[in-house]
Amino acid sequence: LANELRKLEKLRTVSELAASISHEVRNPLTVTKGFLQLLREPDLTDQDKLNYINTAMDALGKAESTITDYLTFAKPSLENIKILDLHKELLYVENFIDPYAAMNNVQIQVRLEEDIYIAGEDQKLHQCLINVVKNGIESMPQGGRLLIELRRIADNAMITVTDTGIGMNEEQLERLGSPFFTTKDIGTGLGTMVTYSIVKTMRGEIIVKSEIGKGTSFSILLPIAENSLSPTEDNLGNLSTPPL
Ligand code: ADP
Ligand code: MG
Repeated sequence: LANELRKLEKLRTVSELAASISHEVRNPLTVTKGFLQLLREPDLTDQDKLNYINTAMDALGKAESTITDYLTFAKPSLENIKILDLHKELLYVENFIDPYAAMNNVQIQVRLEEDIYIAGEDQKLHQCLINVVKNGIESMPQGGRLLIELRRIADNAMITVTDTGIGMNEEQLERLGSPFFTTKDIGTGLGTMVTYSIVKTMRGEIIVKSEIGKGTSFSILLPIAENSLSPTEDNLGNLSTPPL
């Protein structure tokens, strides 16, 4: 298994990754199919039936999480770079994730500066932030509070997501962002990898601070769009050749 993991961590190209993602989805579907077939057998006890159904449901849950972490906002091929108002985008993300937070007894607080703009694809930005916020929520199994901050630091926008959850040790921090690294029973190990790759294409940077038992803060630095103090038609026009 260790060898298998090391191999997976070396995955580089997008196509290799896409192939392994489809494997991650197809596998649980095959399992589900198998157990549905078993359910056709006559003379099953109620306990057998229940076991088969539960196994199939777990497998479907796994396929569902893989798609959530990787493809929620995927819009095939079309690049769609715009000037994004980060205040607005972060409120969108907060609204999107709020039901999930509520379900996990997590209260989201926001502290957002206004008038900070970047150039990028809104859907990619949403996917990348939602994966981070989701991890923050999942790090607090007893519930708690999660803070989303936005501020300007020199020429960068800094988005920080802070939880008061279980935290990570050195080894976990080290492995963060490698494909399929997960410490969760039904984790995908794809969320942070997707986040890192999106931030990289946006020429940004990620800084993670974490302490076991205390919590984690995940900061994303993104270069502020030039001439974008207000998103005028002019600025949008200038972006017809994408700067990324
Ligand atoms: P998944 O959430 O499916 O496990 P991710 O790629 O999103 O996959 O995260 C990988 C791993 O990184 C998690 O399983 C967890 O161990 C660790 N991790 C990420 N974010 C946090 C966080 N905020 N607090 C604690 N651990 C985290
Ligand atoms: Mg995750």
